[in-house]
Amino acid sequence: MKTTIEFRKDPVSGDWVLVSTGIQKKPVFFKGEVSKPSPKSRCPFEDPQKSNQEKILLWFPAPGKKDLKDWWVAIFPNKYPVVERSNICPPLERCGIHETKIGVGFQEVIVTRSHDRHFGAMSKGEIELVIEAYQSRYQALSAESCVDYILIIHNHGSRAGATVPHPHSQVFAIPIIPPDVKRSIEGSRKYFHTHKRCVHCDVLRTEIKEKKRLIYQNKSFVVLAPYASRVAYEIRIFPKRHESRFEAIDQEQRNDLADALSVIFSRFIKTLKNPDYNFFIHTAPPKERHARHYHWHMEILPRIATWGGLELGAGIDVVKVAPEETARILRR
Ligand SMILES: [Zn+2]
Ligand SMILES: [Zn+2]
Repeated sequence: MKTTIEFRKDPVSGDWVLVSTGIQKKPVFFKGEVSKPSPKSRCPFEDPQKSNQEKILLWFPAPGKKDLKDWWVAIFPNKYPVVERSNICPPLERCGIHETKIGVGFQEVIVTRSHDRHFGAMSKGEIELVIEAYQSRYQALSAESCVDYILIIHNHGSRAGATVPHPHSQVFAIPIIPPDVKRSIEGSRKYFHTHKRCVHCDVLRTEIKEKKRLIYQNKSFVVLAPYASRVAYEIRIFPKRHESRFEAIDQEQRNDLADALSVIFSRFIKTLKNPDYNFFIHTAPPKERHARHYHWHMEILPRIATWGGLELGAGIDVVKVAPEETARILRR
């Protein structure tokens, strides 16, 4: 059967989905159902230059090193992308009540060197380089004319959707605004119009004052368990300074974000016994000129629960650990 790669719009909800059938060829480097990683000898990310990866787009030497043989971060195009690499802007095609856009875009992999050292075991300097890599790819891809959104994600473990156990993040640059991002942006726009204030700044003020769901803070960032968490141990990280764009953070904020991530992920290892998780960055769309109402942030979702009918049929997430309990456990 012919490969299909297209964004399709749900005619009722208006939400986009991606139908991408080519990825079935992709090998999976996890053994069994639970995250039992395959050995380093079979890892496709060990030596990205030699292991048949695509051409390296960017390297970062390890903290304190200058030579590329001492690389810590390497970035290359995904060998099995769910979108088709192209800088041709896909037109919106209509067929009766259905709307489609060809699934073009860019999908890149950001790999850190160590096979088994995940965020919880990295140094702050090493995490800071990953953040710098995110920013540099974000900036490069936002110059692409057909890109409407750039999503940076990290899947840790097979339950979180990772197919390679070696720590890596991904950047998706796509010609649509993803539904969750659209809801997040519309919600903050509406609040801003009504109250003339940022909803997230208001939330942060409350959470810092009440301390019930506060997990950690440093000079630039607040780490908390959201009031209406969708899964047990859900975490969000917000910059204290109102800023709509992640890609605009400065050196001091990079440093403080690395500190916050290091604290949270090392507590995940110590306290939660290293669960599989996803994290992603929600930032204003690159071409959105009126995004002053938006407050960029990171969301971290441990993959402990399995969705049942209530979640899928009603969109009501059942959370088995109260956010206040999450905060109490992870504050230690
Ligand atoms: Zn590896
Ligand atoms: Zn704000």
